[in-house]
Amino acid sequence: MSISIDKLVNGDRRTLAKAITLTESKLDKHRLEAQSLLEKIVSHTGGSLRIGISGVPGVGKSTFIETFGLYLISQGKKVAVLAVDPSSPISGGSLLGDKTRMEILSQQNEAFIRPSPTSGSLGGVAQKTREAMLLCEAAGYDIILVETVGVGQSEYEVASMVDFFMVLMLPNAGDELQGIKKGILELADSIVVNKADSDSVNLAKMTMGHYKNALRLVHPTSFWIPRVLSCSSIEKRGIDDIWKMISEYHSEAKKNGELLTKRAVQNKKWMEKLIFEMIELRLKSNKEIQKKWHKFEDDVSKGLATPFNAAKDIVESYFQN
Ligand code: GDP
Repeated sequence: MSISIDKLVNGDRRTLAKAITLTESKLDKHRLEAQSLLEKIVSHTGGSLRIGISGVPGVGKSTFIETFGLYLISQGKKVAVLAVDPSSPISGGSLLGDKTRMEILSQQNEAFIRPSPTSGSLGGVAQKTREAMLLCEAAGYDIILVETVGVGQSEYEVASMVDFFMVLMLPNAGDELQGIKKGILELADSIVVNKADSDSVNLAKMTMGHYKNALRLVHPTSFWIPRVLSCSSIEKRGIDDIWKMISEYHSEAKKNGELLTKRAVQNKKWMEKLIFEMIELRLKSNKEIQKKWHKFEDDVSKGLATPFNAAKDIVESYFQN
């Protein structure tokens, strides 16, 4: 697959789509081509603002992204929307929904929307989304929105690839807040109560109060104190305040160096993940090791060897070779 770097950095959408497809390919040959492409475009990356958006199914993520994306375009930005869908590798189904999403946004020249990669482990899906993010940056997108579902590990994966992590919440009564995972409060740079419209305006205000209280118990680890806002994605209200908040975060974090530090930490962690993944791939593609592996699986299940000794033997014999 030949990808023209010139076309990519000039923002040609078909080239961008082709490049992302290349990174998603399982063929070794394509993986190598993709890595060499990523090496070549690295100097064109890093210039965007990366925003993660999470929330349970039905909270209004796609409606919000449509409204927010169109708002950003009206501010002169180019917007890419990527997704990490944790359900696809496991069930083949989709938690982010197969419905036609973001219909108006997807028709804009200044928007590029790409669904979640659909195969591999969650870690694999997240890695491909990271690579897609770099390609979108090289193609000149100013804002990258990475969407995920508020389920399990996927929020951690997305929070660890973006500059600003937002969690959308529903307006609901206090007792329902008790089920909220403490972890999510620690990840969030902002909690936004969506659907603050019609009968829910007052409830949304109350809900905001509950989240503000809950956030007081979390000790911020950076200069940024997480904020609670509300919006109506359908009535398009509160969207400018959200953008103002994120812009404020971005300019402060650039000024005080936190943006660079955060990205450096993320890159170090990403490298670590890749190291483990590469070792795993090599172990699994080594014929001798595979033979040993199967034999030990047999032994371990019959109680003839302990899992610890079997694992130690396999790893040591791989590294001795
Ligand atoms: P997702 O599953 O998180 O992507 O949620 P969707 O964007 O598909 O929205 C789920 C439902 O909530 C849809 O029926 C939307 O029309 C509705 N919805 C989304 N945002 C709002 C909002 O701001 N106000 C109201 N009243 N409904 C909304």
